[in-house]
Amino acid sequence: MKSIKVLIGLLIIGILAIGGYGFFEFNQINEQEPPIQTITFNQDQIDYTNVTKRYTILGGLIPIERTYLNEETTTIQSDQIQNSLVVQEDALTTITYPDQSVQTFTGSQELGLEENGEYRIEIEMNSADGSTFHYDFLVQVDAKPLISISNLNPVQGELLIIDISNIKMDSLIEVESHFRPSAIIQKDHEARFYLPMAYREVAKSYPLSLMINGESYEYSIEVQPYSFKEVHFTVKPSVVSSTVGNTDAVDQYRATIYPMYETFETEEYWDGNFIAPVEGARISSSFGEMRFVNNSKTATRHAGIDYAIACGTDVVASNAGKVEFAGFLTMIGNTIVIDHGLGLKTFYEHMEDTVIKQGDLVEKGQIIGHVGTTGYSTGCHLHFQGMVKNQSINPEFLYNLDPQ
Ligand SMILES: [Zn+2]
Repeated sequence: MKSIKVLIGLLIIGILAIGGYGFFEFNQINEQEPPIQTITFNQDQIDYTNVTKRYTILGGLIPIERTYLNEETTTIQSDQIQNSLVVQEDALTTITYPDQSVQTFTGSQELGLEENGEYRIEIEMNSADGSTFHYDFLVQVDAKPLISISNLNPVQGELLIIDISNIKMDSLIEVESHFRPSAIIQKDHEARFYLPMAYREVAKSYPLSLMINGESYEYSIEVQPYSFKEVHFTVKPSVVSSTVGNTDAVDQYRATIYPMYETFETEEYWDGNFIAPVEGARISSSFGEMRFVNNSKTATRHAGIDYAIACGTDVVASNAGKVEFAGFLTMIGNTIVIDHGLGLKTFYEHMEDTVIKQGDLVEKGQIIGHVGTTGYSTGCHLHFQGMVKNQSINPEFLYNLDPQ
């Protein structure tokens, strides 16, 4: 009898212990927050809206289902077109766009929310034990283009780079300026173009107007004077007639070079600073130099830099690009034109020879020919010129294009 009493006693203690543990375990889980799955939209962590958690107590004997509700809907403000949603791999996301169209996908994603307005995002996740997790939230997108102009106080002959970001795909971008902009190239949510401060234009304030998807953005560019060199010299009339007087040479030059003012590569090949096309040369004529011949009141202007150095010296590509022209022209001799992208071009003239051909892709520093004195030239030198459309830019700015 005594042993039965002991047995019953032990049984009661056992039931109490298990019950107590079970009650304790149940309470523990009840008081916990629902097991949150980490969801972030940009940098914000999103609160759940509805979680049904399934679990068991008493070592699997009793199944429990518990639902947690969160009445508040999170609204996130975003001034970005590109937004990042980070969820677990199997999460199913449904986005309702401002126009009420719906898109569904699984896993994390970079979201291009192209139109301003309200987006509803609903995320559903399930776990192996049958628990379900819902996250509903709103994203209010108010994205504006970000416009960066490399310099609002440039000097004559400087090249401006204008970067536009945070714009929707295939945006309509128009530029209104006294200067002729390069081609405008857009990739995804970014666009870029160049604006040359053509050296012949007077130093003053010029308005720049950008029209992006119907919205206008106004700027004022304060062009500062650049001190161009002045050179006075005399030339025999017979020499004049053989150069500018040779209409065939002029016609050939115009027929070949002028069409290149309108062509452009849609790929941007150049990278970092441009480099001088010859090493160790003396600058025999500077950029924009004003040449007063035979006491003339009006100057002819030098549109590039002349590098005087021995014939046969290597000439290298100032930056990476695509060879648009390689050939001989009576006026400027053996000539190479490289398009570095978007119509930013460098010209190499009076060369002894050219060792690359039209259509070649060249690297920065690659040998493209040798210094000569072909065409109308009075000595071994390389005429080097930077162009956007028909506007010359100072190569010195190309050498310092990269702010790093
Ligand atoms: Zn020259």
